[in-house]
Amino acid sequence: MQEYGLRKYVPRKSKTCIICGKHFITNQYQKKYCSKKCKRKANTKTQNAKREKRGFDPLISNHFPKEIDVDFHHIHFNLPFVIPIPKDLHQQKNGNVESHFRIANEWVEFYYDINVNDLLEVC
Ligand SMILES: [Zn+2]
Ligand SMILES: [Zn+2]
Repeated sequence: MQEYGLRKYVPRKSKTCIICGKHFITNQYQKKYCSKKCKRKANTKTQNAKREKRGFDPLISNHFPKEIDVDFHHIHFNLPFVIPIPKDLHQQKNGNVESHFRIANEWVEFYYDINVNDLLEVC
């Protein structure tokens, strides 16, 4: 039997990037994008789709100086209302969704003097 290089056994597939439509060769089964740039674009797309689904209705406009990266935090998981909070604070990875809401909403109360629970009762 003939010896083949190991490379030969790695299946390579030609795929089409679902963002820009460019063809690319990969051996990664799940790869859908030709480049990091396209992957980033796709992430923004899903984020926007999520926003659209839930709605995006700022209760307060962003008044942070532009040196501060800001995220819009949804004060409730199925309501469209959002409040600008610093991105660092918003993206703290602390496990579950519940603690995300608790921490972010506590901060909203501290900073804007808005009690989210009171607010939701009024709605
Ligand atoms: Zn692409
Ligand atoms: Zn949030």
